[in-house]
Amino acid sequence: MKWQGRRQSSNVEDRRGMRGPSRGGGMPMMPIGGGLGLIIMIVLFLLNGGLGGGNQGGTPVDPQPQQQQQNMPTSAQEDQLGDFAKTVLADTEDVWHDLFAEQGWTYKEPTLVLFTDSVESACGIAGSSTGPFYCPGDQKLYIDLSFFNELSQKYGASGDFAAAYVIAHEVGHHVQTQMGITEQVFGLQNQMSKTQFNEYMVRFELQADYLAGVWAHHVQNKGYLEEGDIDEALQAAWAIGDDTLQKQAQGYVVPDSFTHGTSEQRSSWFYEGFNKGTIADGDTFNLPDPQH
Ligand SMILES: [Zn+2]
Repeated sequence: MKWQGRRQSSNVEDRRGMRGPSRGGGMPMMPIGGGLGLIIMIVLFLLNGGLGGGNQGGTPVDPQPQQQQQNMPTSAQEDQLGDFAKTVLADTEDVWHDLFAEQGWTYKEPTLVLFTDSVESACGIAGSSTGPFYCPGDQKLYIDLSFFNELSQKYGASGDFAAAYVIAHEVGHHVQTQMGITEQVFGLQNQMSKTQFNEYMVRFELQADYLAGVWAHHVQNKGYLEEGDIDEALQAAWAIGDDTLQKQAQGYVVPDSFTHGTSEQRSSWFYEGFNKGTIADGDTFNLPDPQH
């Protein structure tokens, strides 16, 4: 991706190198793929008052709660990763402002929180093992940038656009929240079985992948893509599919426990978004999985 020298978003809280809060329980959270992280995050948020409630997100959280205030110096590589993430976030702001404006809507920009080790959000305390996540309660994306090393080393998805896809997916959850979809989906939770709700979660996650693809479509139109970028994103979407992660972790696959979709579904919905570039074609809840 051609990203150097371009606008970087100022909607960033850089909490890297601060001593974060220690984690309480041992909740299994891996929102970008595999685990129940996003669900838990959102459920906690909804229990705390939900969207549009008087007290947004429930427990008030200071911007930088009880953390040592002095940042440790970051390395040149960490600085570059941070600059990259800020540039990708700026690109998502530009694209989603335009697409929302086309619908007569106003896009409210999310905040990106960069952290190391652990972080406190309106959805609870999360450790790095949670993976990148979005919290609707404070409309912030949380990323420990070391995840991108893990993505390339552990999951074999390397390249800058693999990382860009991850950020764009989390921004996709913000777009869903802005559109009221998050609230709708989680409003259904008490009306169905766990298995049925898991199916909704999969469609919800696939929509975030689709929206990441929509973003990539417009980034390409701006001339910022390099050869191989889309393959990098597809590889990342494939690597963190539920079936692939489960096979890796336990040697077998349990479809009923899927929360994000299979490798095939995740990569094909990303690709569908990349081809279409529209909000309107992203009804993953009702459309059949695209065949590519
Ligand atoms: Zn997600």
